[in-house]
Amino acid sequence: MRDWTNLDKKYIWHPFTQMKDWLESDNLIIERGEGVYLYTTDGTKYLDGISSLWVNIHGHRKKEIDEAIINQVHKLAHSTLLGLGAAPSVELAEKLVKITPDNLKKVFYSDSGSTAVEIALKIAFQYWKNKGHENKKLFVSLDQAYHGDTIGSVSLGAIDLFHSIFHPLLFHTLVIPTPFPYHNPDLTPEELKDHCLNNFRKLAEERGTEIAALIIEPCVQGAAGMIVHPKGFLKGLEAICREKEILLICDEVATGFGRTGTMFACEHEDVEPDLMCLAKGLTGGYLPLAATLVSDQIFEAFLGSHTEYKTFFHGHSYTGNSLACAAAIACLDIFSKDHVLEQLSPKIKFLKNCLEERLANLDHVGDIRQCGFMVGIELVEDKLLRKPFPAELRIGANVTQNTRKYSVILRPLGDVVVIMPPLSIENNQIEIIVEATEKSVKEICQN
Ligand code: PMP
Repeated sequence: MRDWTNLDKKYIWHPFTQMKDWLESDNLIIERGEGVYLYTTDGTKYLDGISSLWVNIHGHRKKEIDEAIINQVHKLAHSTLLGLGAAPSVELAEKLVKITPDNLKKVFYSDSGSTAVEIALKIAFQYWKNKGHENKKLFVSLDQAYHGDTIGSVSLGAIDLFHSIFHPLLFHTLVIPTPFPYHNPDLTPEELKDHCLNNFRKLAEERGTEIAALIIEPCVQGAAGMIVHPKGFLKGLEAICREKEILLICDEVATGFGRTGTMFACEHEDVEPDLMCLAKGLTGGYLPLAATLVSDQIFEAFLGSHTEYKTFFHGHSYTGNSLACAAAIACLDIFSKDHVLEQLSPKIKFLKNCLEERLANLDHVGDIRQCGFMVGIELVEDKLLRKPFPAELRIGANVTQNTRKYSVILRPLGDVVVIMPPLSIENNQIEIIVEATEKSVKEICQN
């Protein structure tokens, strides 16, 4: 057998990874998957507790998705959408328009969450230009937002650790505070929500004529550490956007496709964004595909004769890839055929109970945040004072490394342990993840 671990070290530069650490450690190389399990090249089995970085929905090697891709391979792998159509992309767009909020009518494809956001921001910018509002070119985002890694989406982000180094390359944005109850213990969630909404209202009143759009990860800010917004916050932002003619972009890259318990997080607050970004779970975690959905009002602003230059000049080589669209169609069909969302609701409650029973009372668990199947467990040195561990201890990384002893793969966000399993997971498997986390928190944090 080939020495995959060392060959990986020789040739691969891993994302979001300090490669010095990687080169010095024993790393797992995954060879195959089945259901919620991943198997390494030496045959060891692990539970995929983070859905292969939040993308997997119905488990690995899902028969229907495997077959859809194979059937599509026999017809066509890819043909461009520049100047031509392709049947799978049409069929998928029709399905997406049906399941997303009513006002969203057109689908623009790309291939990652970052490009879905990049496209949304370019469309929002050009929309106002095409309408003759030259001044509306600023974007508002939330503190600690994360919208991807391309320069446009990094400009909209506000996580210093990832983004500050690129500041000289970024365009200027306006940042409003995030309602983060754990970091604002002096206010009730309701007061905090009002405080943040008032902040946006003031900004919209002062600079609304310059603001093109507000972008938000609806209900949960994932990469920031699973910050769950107080109820009513998204609805409140939508109302201000409408009043001040600011476009609302919902980045559902992480929250989409059942993650929060509903198909899309916007549904929790009955919100209709002007633009919606989808990726990750769109193909069930099989192939890279993304979609930016827009309302008719936006689409129509791009119509005109050639010489009006209202065309949206953007498109990637693999836009609307047929194999990826076939996988996505199969993924969506499973949602209805297997009643995935109906099955999910008791699992979410079960997960909540497990977290409460096994983790809530541990000395170093400061906060447990959960919205559906998106969970963040914040580890702290002092629970009463909400005092973080010194960063150099790398507590989050050590805890998640330790869960591998218990055959569970997790990946933290700083000192927040993330649990985000495939929606197809069973209760007994949920228990295994939470138990592995409990043991690891005890073993690592109490030393
Ligand atoms: N938006 C959000 C909310 C995300 O969580 C992510 C990725 N975690 C992205 C955008 C970027 O997606 P991708 O990694 O596919 O570019």
